[in-house]
Amino acid sequence: MYRNFSIVPKIMFGRGSFNQLGEVIGERRIHADSFFVFVLDDVFLGKPLQSRLPMHGKDLLLPVNVADEPKTSYIDSLVLKIREYSSVVPDGIVGIGGGSAMDIAKAISLMLTNPGSSADYQGWDLIKNPSVYHVAVPTLAGTGAEISRTAILTGPVKKLGINSDYTLFNQIVLDPELLAGVPTDQWFYTGMDCYIHDIESLHGTYINEFSKSYGEKSLDLCRQVFLEDHPDKDDKLMMASYFGGMSIAYSQVGACHALSYGLSYVLGIHHGIGCCIAFDYLEEIYPQGVREFRMMMDKHRITLPRKLTANMSDEALQLMVTTALNLVPLWENCLGPDWQKLMSRERCLGLFKRM
Ligand code: NAD
Ligand code: ZN
Repeated sequence: MYRNFSIVPKIMFGRGSFNQLGEVIGERRIHADSFFVFVLDDVFLGKPLQSRLPMHGKDLLLPVNVADEPKTSYIDSLVLKIREYSSVVPDGIVGIGGGSAMDIAKAISLMLTNPGSSADYQGWDLIKNPSVYHVAVPTLAGTGAEISRTAILTGPVKKLGINSDYTLFNQIVLDPELLAGVPTDQWFYTGMDCYIHDIESLHGTYINEFSKSYGEKSLDLCRQVFLEDHPDKDDKLMMASYFGGMSIAYSQVGACHALSYGLSYVLGIHHGIGCCIAFDYLEEIYPQGVREFRMMMDKHRITLPRKLTANMSDEALQLMVTTALNLVPLWENCLGPDWQKLMSRERCLGLFKRM
């Protein structure tokens, strides 16, 4: 069966395009007594970007903290805050920040129209009602969260996205100027998330011409950004993120992402850096990709944390292995239908023990 998937319907790209956000959402200010919610990564509180938000009338500024990656309990509390603020459903949500803030905005827009806790919807196509109109303005590039149909959340029993067509943003505004000022380490980790999406998609068994077309272009852009230091690197990385996301939308990620989920669930390690930590030990699976990744690390003088699992209990290590191996499609994409013969619990444990 071929998957029939939706994509983000409206996209604006270009330096300074953020200035048109007010105009874009103006068309969606439908109800006189309604309002927009601006979900703003709190790193921008008191910064020039905050004063540029096109807020009017009853609009609500909702600063979000992403020191921890988004949890279902956090989403539920933010939704409650909006409901306490007004009994009217907002006309729209705007998420401004990196993958975390964008995923928070997606999840809020879904939970304002669907009952219960966001944890009830971690999985595939469990959402029943269309979301509130929602817009993304990325300030970090690499995750592809701006175009994906998932909002990744850590819940009480699992880390899993709310995957649905309703999760997709209705509009994205890609303004490369907003990437200025990202600390180099964070820029690199989030950018490598994109590079690894490309490698895992292109070297997976699910690869097809659709995913290959996007993945190859994204990889080419990543090389210009991370190896050639191209003067337009912010514009290029923003498009690499978009293309990388489009590539995995019709294929899948692989071993590195599965291992990074284990690191994240048990040790709370963030997605981008977690992918970098895991990728560095995967030369057996992605030899060329890992070699090039190390060249990129050297060029940008990135050093990764080591010995993260050295003092962990057996129980915690086993939970990490279980978390990683539960991600069946990722392993199947990476190693084929007989992946279990190739990636035993022992081999997976061995990889984690090296990290
Ligand atoms: P992030 O959103 O977690 O942000 C990382 C740090 O950078 C934070 O401290 C943030 O405040 C800061 N930051 C953001 N923009 C900045 C800017 N312009 N200047 C200075 N600091 C800035 O990082 P990320 O790597 O973009 O996102 C990771 C998250 O995305 C994880 O929660 C992961 O699960 C999720 N993710 C989602 C998808 C998806 O398809 N939905 C895909 C991959 C990852
Ligand atoms: Zn990723």
